[in-house]
Amino acid sequence: MTLEARYYKLTENIQAACDKANRDVSEITLIAVTKYVTIDETKRVQALGIHDLGENRVKEAKAKIEAMEDVTWHFIGPLQSRKVKEIAEQIDYFHALDRLKIAKELNKRRSSPLDCFVQVNVSQEETKGGVNQEALEDFIQSLAGLENIRVVGLMTMAPHSDDETLVRGVFKELNKCRDQIRALGLPHAPCHYLSMGMSNDFEWAILEGATHLRIGSTLVKSER
Ligand SMILES: *Cc1c(COP(=O)(O)O)cnc(C)c1O
Repeated sequence: MTLEARYYKLTENIQAACDKANRDVSEITLIAVTKYVTIDETKRVQALGIHDLGENRVKEAKAKIEAMEDVTWHFIGPLQSRKVKEIAEQIDYFHALDRLKIAKELNKRRSSPLDCFVQVNVSQEETKGGVNQEALEDFIQSLAGLENIRVVGLMTMAPHSDDETLVRGVFKELNKCRDQIRALGLPHAPCHYLSMGMSNDFEWAILEGATHLRIGSTLVKSER
């Protein structure tokens, strides 16, 4: 299948899931995760009309940011504190905030507020990043003094599984956490959004309220 055909199929599947969930497709931001491909291939993804692109490594992200225009850049992977200064000013969203140290470093290196998603380790898998649910409220409260950190939502990665109840349960839980944080009415944490759903589980994520899908392999494949 060509890139265009994969994109067409993806938009159809997103629309079908929205219909099933009784949601308007305009509520959903599709982030194409371009970490698998070159700059030229990333430009072809943009040419489909996708404006939101996701990268998870500093070096590759920087090269693409420098080579491209009119993109909203989502940094979706973990950041190491010594690399923060290289990328802090160039990204529009950070999806994997889970440490105060990184938040402080970002706060220092930004000249304007950065929209962040706090990553939550709902499934409590040891190999995954993210704040544990029990610690989430305290973590978000601890960001209050950092004027350049704005918590716009929560992010999670579901276990890689085709057990619908299990995966949807994780998304449902993140939705509940989002409601709890939003209800606190914290000025630095409006927490409207849910970044959840990848190639293999985005339909379930839409059914559970996702607002930002991070889609890689089902759309973006290297053609070499
Ligand atoms: C790679 C990646 C994705 C995309 O995953 P696919 O399964 O290829 O769609 C989404 N989120 C994060 C954090 C990633 O690192």
